[in-house]
Amino acid sequence: MEGMLLLGSIRSQVDLSELIGRRFECLDHCQLCCLCQPEVLPGEVSFFSTRFPNNLILKNAPREYAAISLKKGRGSCSFLDHRRCVVYEHRPHFCRTFPFRFYVGNAVQVELNLSCRGVWTGRGRDCSAIASSMVDANAEALATTLSDSRRIYAEFIQNCTESGIHTSVEILRSQVHMRIGEFSDLHFLARVLEMSTQEEKLDLARVEINDGEKIDMDDLERAARETAMDSLSSTDPIAVPVYCDGAGQWNILESKNGKVEWSILDEEGDINPKGTIDPEDVRLVSPVEGGRDMLIDYLRILNSRDSMIGYAFFLVDDYGYEDQVSNVYFGAFATTVLDLLWRVSLLNTIHGGRSNRKGIMEGIIFFDMDQLDAPTLGAFV
Ligand code: SF4
Ligand code: SF4
Repeated sequence: MEGMLLLGSIRSQVDLSELIGRRFECLDHCQLCCLCQPEVLPGEVSFFSTRFPNNLILKNAPREYAAISLKKGRGSCSFLDHRRCVVYEHRPHFCRTFPFRFYVGNAVQVELNLSCRGVWTGRGRDCSAIASSMVDANAEALATTLSDSRRIYAEFIQNCTESGIHTSVEILRSQVHMRIGEFSDLHFLARVLEMSTQEEKLDLARVEINDGEKIDMDDLERAARETAMDSLSSTDPIAVPVYCDGAGQWNILESKNGKVEWSILDEEGDINPKGTIDPEDVRLVSPVEGGRDMLIDYLRILNSRDSMIGYAFFLVDDYGYEDQVSNVYFGAFATTVLDLLWRVSLLNTIHGGRSNRKGIMEGIIFFDMDQLDAPTLGAFV
């Protein structure tokens, strides 16, 4: 009876809206998800420690946990053989739930990792149905995490209110929603970034771009380049940014010493250099043709994601509660769009593509996994 009550109560608190109308089928010869070293949960450890002790390692940050080893300590999962999982029936929880991410902040929200090509085909199983059965199977863990997370969330809101910087999530989202189409425009992004540092409390309704007014696009290029180069850097060799292209090649595009180092990670865990790109040679593009609609659809998703709000809240906390929440959220949102557009521009530089519908989609495939891995106030379960 208690279990039924728990299930009913957690179901009513899970937001599945990002999944509506989406389908998922796992594709052959992709296995991008097998590059994300899966955690092995306590209940799964005995299977691996008994049958495959050499494939199990102990990690000690940010806490102690067991995980599956990677080939040569940096490649794909050691259970991947010719792009097939050799323990498929016993694969860890992480592998079973991918590409769904359960984000717990003030509620539970299911987000879809759009770096997975299997969610772009329009074929396969209904995402809402898959996620609902995952909610049922993990009700207890979700309820426990939600209760802890709500306490932290309430403390955060109280800190913001006491510091005089609070703006409700509903207002933040509705202001972005009202201008969502303009977030695909470089001039608008430049103005939002400028005003988010200059205005006492930014209200997006006041952002105007007057005809003939000069916007410093060099500044915007520089901001986009610096943001993307920062997001493409990694201190952890197993967390380097990977773009799985349409042919299933694992492209590593890593910012190192002021350049982008491009290499291909192969099945054996070897890294094969392909070239070096000078970021100054990458020209920031605007979306063209159907690319604009594709970008705006993605921005709608970002604006409704609790992890995006959680990212802004993390920054507010990191900045010591000195900046208005509105300025931080709008600035972070504009910066996120710039980061994505710069990555689209980088892929165009490498592959000679355009920022049309296909080009923006490839940019999202490259970008979304890193976006979901950004630090947040809240937790992925
Ligand atoms: S990234 Fe998506 S499509 Fe590719 S193997 Fe993983 S689940 Fe399947
Ligand atoms: S256990 Fe299997 S599904 Fe999971 S990452 Fe390894 S190879 Fe991929």
